Amino acid sequence: MDCIFCKIASGELPAKKVYEDAHTLVFMDIAGDVDGHILAIPKRHFENILDCDGETLDRLMRTVKLVAEHCVKNCGYDGVNLLNANGTSAGQSVPHFHIHIIPRKSGDAVTAWPNFGGAKKDIDEVWQTLKL
Ligand code: 5GP
Ligand code: ZN
Repeated sequence: MDCIFCKIASGELPAKKVYEDAHTLVFMDIAGDVDGHILAIPKRHFENILDCDGETLDRLMRTVKLVAEHCVKNCGYDGVNLLNANGTSAGQSVPHFHIHIIPRKSGDAVTAWPNFGGAKKDIDEVWQTLKL
């Protein structure tokens, strides 16, 4: 499969690895958009959370927690933002499941939370559509 992140997971393409275990890999994002931008992926190919099985998801989130704790305990950060896009409609550009980890320091002035621009519909109308 012609997938950049599969190639990084297999070692075919290089990456600056932060953490690796049998099922997951964490490496530096090359975007250069914010200091410390990290990506966590399952080594197996899943497009995103919608096709990922539960066991893989559990493993990925455990890895995300481990790296988040490492950032705060050992690397001088105070918190992290977790960001994730599922599907092109949501802005996903690489179709291999990944969680962005953005380490944060108090007062770092990084804008990591989207400005959605305001809701257009009544909350009750949307709630009726969404509730399980
Ligand atoms: P998305 O837009 O799918 O949520 O995020 C994809 C991310 O992958 C982007 O932040 C982009 O910078 C990163 N990325 C794309 N190609 C590569 C690559 O070859 N190596 C690394 N380390 N990151 C990549
Ligand atoms: Zn892949």
